[in-house]
Amino acid sequence: MAGRNFLFVPGPTNVPDRVTRAMMVAMEDHRSPIFPELTRACLTGLMPVFKTTTASPILFPSSGTGCWEAALTNCLNAGDKVLVSRFGQFSHLWVDMCTRLGFEVELLETPWGEGAPVERYLASLSADREHKIKAVLVCQNETATGVTSDVAAIRRAMDSIKHPALLFVDAVSALASIDFRMDEWGVDVCISGSQKGLMLPAGLGVTCVSQKALEAAKSANSKRCYFDYADMVQANASGYFPYTPSVPMLYGLRESLTMLAEEGLENVFRRHTYLAAGVRAAVFEGWKLKLCAIAPKWYSDTVSAIMVPDGINGAEVIARAFRRYNLSLGAGLSKVAGKLFRIGHLGDLNELMLVGAIAGAEMAMLDLGVKIEPGRGVAAAQNYWRANSSVVAPKGAGAKAGVAA
Ligand code: PLP
Repeated sequence: MAGRNFLFVPGPTNVPDRVTRAMMVAMEDHRSPIFPELTRACLTGLMPVFKTTTASPILFPSSGTGCWEAALTNCLNAGDKVLVSRFGQFSHLWVDMCTRLGFEVELLETPWGEGAPVERYLASLSADREHKIKAVLVCQNETATGVTSDVAAIRRAMDSIKHPALLFVDAVSALASIDFRMDEWGVDVCISGSQKGLMLPAGLGVTCVSQKALEAAKSANSKRCYFDYADMVQANASGYFPYTPSVPMLYGLRESLTMLAEEGLENVFRRHTYLAAGVRAAVFEGWKLKLCAIAPKWYSDTVSAIMVPDGINGAEVIARAFRRYNLSLGAGLSKVAGKLFRIGHLGDLNELMLVGAIAGAEMAMLDLGVKIEPGRGVAAAQNYWRANSSVVAPKGAGAKAGVAA
């Protein structure tokens, strides 16, 4: 098909050309005397992204899922109890992993479209007088439903009753796009991956581990080997890895961290909020449709899960968008299969890229008989962005450049 593919799944995200170019390197010796410079640039560059000065960023040759497994098997004893809520396919998969690894799960079943139920976390932790719950698990951004949870509130709940459990946060589709604060929120393990806000191909498990979690790992008896934190931290201390790292991914990461620092992390968050609000304007005002997230406090700034009207199959919208318009939208997963499609709006993107996704989704829906008017979604997004562009652009800068041209 002529023209480029518009990649608007919520990860993998578009890799900036700068990052692609940085990854085009000859292979090199990962035990050379100069290799530690690259390792250190990546690990120290990640610390401000996690907002930590004390925790240890770790890079595993995996995706985010490997970092879930690493958190559980490094920090917990076999059969330990964990407290977790499930409100989408990714929080479900984490629960599933806990069960399959033999941990005892106290599950807070939560409607899909809502986020982590803070009051229920507090109730379970308060009832746990003997402190049998060893870890509290929270999915910060449920990518399947486009729901963001309040991690700080979970930490406050834990602190209010002085519960000593570790706090594990899945920030796979949040890190480097939605605010995340390792130190301030007292997160013990943050789990993420390379293919979302970090704007890289999939292939690096990007995680960060507090000193408290590293201490717990010293005596935790769950079986682990390849994902052992201690092996990694020890090798990283001298700038190396316990096994062969993916050198191009490290060069790519160094470049993407440079790009994030150049834009400024807070500006990156502002850009994501602003772009997401434009997509929501298209959904609500332009198309008169609903999100899966049931209330504004849950709206995600990295992914919108858009409910299709009754009688329309979301999977057909996605297939039409792909086959006819070369646009990749995110699928409805598991319980919400067929009921929605998702627009990923995270990573390296701007208004005009998103207009392509909104227009393509609009055309695919029109082709399938959804009762919307052509151009309404695009117009609503444009109106929002034009009215709010000062959020992301210095006042007048764009307009002046336009006049000069
Ligand atoms: N958690 C969330 C919230 C995700 O969105 C994903 C993947 O999209 C995962 C976990 C699993 O990560 P990975 O596919 O990198 O293993």
